[in-house]
Amino acid sequence: MPYQPPIRDDLRGAAPYGAPQLDVPVRLNTNENPFPPSPALATAIGAAAAAAAADLNRYPDRDARVLRQRLAAYLGRESGVTLQAEQIWAANGSNEVMHHIFSAFGGPTRTALAFSPTYSMYEQYARDTFTRYVTVRRDPDFSLDATTVVAAMLGGSPSIVVLTSPNNPTGTALPLEVVAAACATATGVVVVDEAYAEFRRPGVPSALSLLPGNPNLIVTRTMSKAFALAGARLGYAIACPEVIDALRVVRLPYHLSAITQAVASTALDHADELQGQVDTLRRERDDLLSWLRDRGVRAVDSDANFILFGVFADQHRAWQALLDRGVLVREVGPEEWLRVTVGTPADNAAFRAALEAVITEDGMMAPSE
Ligand SMILES: *Cc1c(COP(=O)(O)O)cnc(C)c1O
Repeated sequence: MPYQPPIRDDLRGAAPYGAPQLDVPVRLNTNENPFPPSPALATAIGAAAAAAAADLNRYPDRDARVLRQRLAAYLGRESGVTLQAEQIWAANGSNEVMHHIFSAFGGPTRTALAFSPTYSMYEQYARDTFTRYVTVRRDPDFSLDATTVVAAMLGGSPSIVVLTSPNNPTGTALPLEVVAAACATATGVVVVDEAYAEFRRPGVPSALSLLPGNPNLIVTRTMSKAFALAGARLGYAIACPEVIDALRVVRLPYHLSAITQAVASTALDHADELQGQVDTLRRERDDLLSWLRDRGVRAVDSDANFILFGVFADQHRAWQALLDRGVLVREVGPEEWLRVTVGTPADNAAFRAALEAVITEDGMMAPSE
């Protein structure tokens, strides 16, 4: 009999989160940026890490002042909103940022509200912090309007409302009026998870512009997607200084290593070059979306670096048929749909060739209504 550790009752039998890490030629399942750092950026990161290494006998800057300053400057250029370092919080991925938010603003007797289908990690942050987790369904086209959000909030007085924009796995961005209505209604905090913000289409706004006047608003971002830095683990939140101070209370001491701070600061110096790759991915996304629709496949409008597509008679069978052709996509979210990450032009060509074969198989697609 193997040892049965005395794990918390509510965690018994739970599986750790994660997509299968399969060794497949074309991996389009975790919304990574397919472009590795350029040789110039990789060299600069190496030099920054070496410089930080000379001081590794010391604890890192607990408040990551240099990095937060640079993130504020980057956001000013990206969104036109003037921000101070005191409005920025950084941690190991926006997953850790979100864990801080749930630790500070959730807790026993408190509720977090989100709108499904959405990112499945929110439920785990709630579980870990003993916060009750409630979801309300989005409309059938996966959009979300202010009436639905406000009604759900009035029904439950949540301490945390999570609005994901663009939403994962649907790619749907929210109109600003929805975020504004949530902030006006909230008795707790409103979190807008903007992990994919840099991929949004022209004219689609960021909630950053609502920060002035809404002290209960927290916007989260990450360097994992647009900055092609998933392996370095750097996420951040933008909010009023009082909210940032609350997050500082629940972080572990020295949570952000000196190496991480140096690497992220260096990548920010290369933001323009990286934004060029983001533009390529946005074009590839729009092309792929048109291609899918031309073939009679339904595809949800996307402001992110992935597309939700369907509708399959059997989601798992379609996922397996693509995998058999060397293409790994994600089985996530609503039944009958699959999510594909936009890859390099070569990845996307391989996906199109595989899908072309799969959709012609008998009984693969759901009969149209
Ligand atoms: C990928 C993703 C994140 C980013 O997670 P990191 O911890 O920063 O890598 C956050 N939110 C959503 C909805 C995501 O899809």
